[in-house]
Amino acid sequence: MRFIPLFSGSSGNSSYLESGDTRLLIDAGMTGKAIVEALSKIAVSPERLSGILVTHDHVDHTRGVGILSRKYNLPVYTNAGTLRAMTPITRELSYANTRLFQTDEDFYVGSINVLPFKTPHDAAESVGFVFTSGEKKLTYMTDIGCMRESMLSCAAGSSLVFIEANHDVEMLKRGPYPYPLKQRILSEKGHLSNENCGRALVKLYETGVRFAVLAHLSRENNTEYEAYSTVSRVLEEANIGDMRIVVAKRDGITGIFEL
Ligand SMILES: [Zn+2]
Ligand SMILES: [Zn+2]
Repeated sequence: MRFIPLFSGSSGNSSYLESGDTRLLIDAGMTGKAIVEALSKIAVSPERLSGILVTHDHVDHTRGVGILSRKYNLPVYTNAGTLRAMTPITRELSYANTRLFQTDEDFYVGSINVLPFKTPHDAAESVGFVFTSGEKKLTYMTDIGCMRESMLSCAAGSSLVFIEANHDVEMLKRGPYPYPLKQRILSEKGHLSNENCGRALVKLYETGVRFAVLAHLSRENNTEYEAYSTVSRVLEEANIGDMRIVVAKRDGITGIFEL
């Protein structure tokens, strides 16, 4: 498996995952043009993608979905709730390119097994994904207000966990956002804080997880340093010293991760 986060943050999200001949885009929350440019940097032509998988309807995950699907004839994998809610953004997708999945039921795209699992977030039908190919397993979960046991069991033993570290709680509280927005982000259906991300990783460590990419950092309420240092401190407090931590970049390719 080869995993490449292209963009990650409140301004737009998209990642690339490949195994054998199967090439997936997970979310397409930048413009079609920006995503095609990012793909060209990793030598992937968009018409060779096997499909686009959508976590939820928010525009930072769906901005480019419709245009990419229409222009390159790409199937879009989504659940019914997300499809309905994202249509004002993506516009109508062709019937042939609409692939509906059921939350909590796994399916295959080419050689990759995909399990969409429910996440607490204020979108129509928000999911995370577990991708499995051979011995390798990758869990993708951003836009989560809080960590649930069910999500931890989905992610157990993953070779890599792509997990939200959205904000530092103090920065958010002191920051410029209006009070209702602060409340929304802090709620159980908002976004995961650095501290709670660290706590989730302590639990995942016990299941064998040794590699995490911190994702979906807020531009206003977080920094790469803040996310990295908070998560590292929580892990150290639990006497964990051998978890590899990478922070995903907001505006470009984070790295090429071979699993
Ligand atoms: Zn988002
Ligand atoms: Zn969202």
